[in-house]
Amino acid sequence: MNNKYDKTNIFSKILRSEISCQKVLENDHALAFLDINPQAPIHVLIIPRNEYIDFHDFTENGSSQEISYFWKLVNDVLKNKNVSESGFRIITNSGLDGNQDVPHFHVHLLGGKNLGRMIN
Ligand code: AMP
Repeated sequence: MNNKYDKTNIFSKILRSEISCQKVLENDHALAFLDINPQAPIHVLIIPRNEYIDFHDFTENGSSQEISYFWKLVNDVLKNKNVSESGFRIITNSGLDGNQDVPHFHVHLLGGKNLGRMIN
């Protein structure tokens, strides 16, 4: 576990069921739920169940099983939301330059409309 991980972050509270979320799908190592402030008609967040701060932390320190279950759940959400053919965008923000607000690794899955260019 990363000792810099902040257990008070909001996704940590969701994982402990201290606050609720609108669950989409889950598996043994990951949880998918709706973003509270959607930026597109489809905006799902996918998070690992264990404590990883960001993509780098997860990829460096996650087990092969956690990593494969995580990306499998992302793919399952694509299918669940019917965006595998229409298209989508997966984003992960990290650190200061990435403007990451919640310090628990997550990817945003966005779709349901043409999302425009990646960065304005
Ligand atoms: P990021 O800037 O990549 O850390 O994104 C954090 C995301 O978490 C934002 O899109 C927020 O709208 C979303 N968010 C914050 N609190 C909640 C919550 N309680 N339930 C669902 N999504 C949330």
